[in-house]
Amino acid sequence: MEQQSDTPNRSTDENLDVLVSTQTVIKRALGKLGYPEHVFDLLKEPLRMMHVRIPVRMDDGSVQVFTGYRAQHNDAVGPTKGGVRFHPDVTESEVKALSIWMSLKAGIVDLPYGGGKGGIQCDPRKMSFRELERLSRGYVRAISQIVGPTKDIPAPDVFTNSQIMAWMVDEYSRIREFDSPGFITGKPLVLGGSKGRETATAKGVTIMIREAAKKKGIPLEGARVVIQGFGNAGSYLAKFMDDVGAKVIGISDAYGALHDEDGLDIEYLLDRRDSFGTVTNLFKETLSNQELLELDCDILVPAAVENQITAANAHRIQADIVVEAANGPTTLDATRILSERGVLLVPDVLASAGGVTVSYFEWVQNNQGYYWSEEEVEKRLEEIMVRSFENVYQTSQSRKLDMRLSAYMVGVRKMAEASRFRGWV
Ligand code: GLU
Repeated sequence: MEQQSDTPNRSTDENLDVLVSTQTVIKRALGKLGYPEHVFDLLKEPLRMMHVRIPVRMDDGSVQVFTGYRAQHNDAVGPTKGGVRFHPDVTESEVKALSIWMSLKAGIVDLPYGGGKGGIQCDPRKMSFRELERLSRGYVRAISQIVGPTKDIPAPDVFTNSQIMAWMVDEYSRIREFDSPGFITGKPLVLGGSKGRETATAKGVTIMIREAAKKKGIPLEGARVVIQGFGNAGSYLAKFMDDVGAKVIGISDAYGALHDEDGLDIEYLLDRRDSFGTVTNLFKETLSNQELLELDCDILVPAAVENQITAANAHRIQADIVVEAANGPTTLDATRILSERGVLLVPDVLASAGGVTVSYFEWVQNNQGYYWSEEEVEKRLEEIMVRSFENVYQTSQSRKLDMRLSAYMVGVRKMAEASRFRGWV
């Protein structure tokens, strides 16, 4: 099967390098806040970037060497924090950009963290359970010197899950010779995971959709929603949208998309999806991911990978609200086009911050050894997400700036201030 959503829409000369685009917006945000050039110089790249090669014994007896990375963007505010991505297209510059986005998320929702991110070039869909275990453990051994509960705290991201977090925390605890649940978040509940972590990104996105819909005067009941991607964020989001009475008329996975004007049967799709979120292989008639993005709908949620809405298709997006559950799904040219057309765009660094917020709750619970109820987690998540949305929205209204630039301004400020107090800039 050919993978679709991973292939960027390349019909223009647009720069699709996500590191360059995030640097462009950071520079603008710092300029608007009145910071001098050398602050940008500090924040434009991670402070530390580790490149590792991980030999893994495969089931057939051969050895395959995988390339991995861990980027630590800035630890002026606190330890760095962010997921580990397993994907064939992972690159060094992408991991750097992802670590910067984590810093911004932490800043926007006001967590005592800087941003970090990891990635391994691999295709977990083609690996066995035990090969994945050996790769996960090998990665932790390779980066163990630079990570830890008060240094840099990994978590799940694209194609990684609580099982992978379990192997990683087990490996780390063995290396350190004491139980260290706070080394990683997104763990299974029995290993010190937090209630509500699994659904946190989608819960946060649901809150963003609700707040954005209020601003636009669109009732959620009956609103037509299209979701690109059926992984952790996309699949739970489809369920939550269904629960609030919205109509999910389109979903997709990496291979194709499904569309039904009367609303898709979400329960059925959730039941049939595999652990990587693949479900369209069960259907004869599918659309492409690009066709899905252009469907007539009220709310569009890209929840897959980068560079999906570009200068080539932004004019054809029909939604009134775009909420980015994925990291980096909309390019800067597309952001400008959407905002000129009056589309309310809730940017990734705000929209998907629910995941790291509940990761923070998990780490706090691990540190104190006392665990919260699901209601407690949800109440705190709700408060933080609503406050953060309002903060970014008000900045955008009062300064007449797009939501992405506004979010960057909110997100970068604490890190710049902390770096200044420490005497780094
Ligand atoms: N990978 C998620 C993100 O991109 C979560 C990170 C975390 O929980 O630390 O926001």
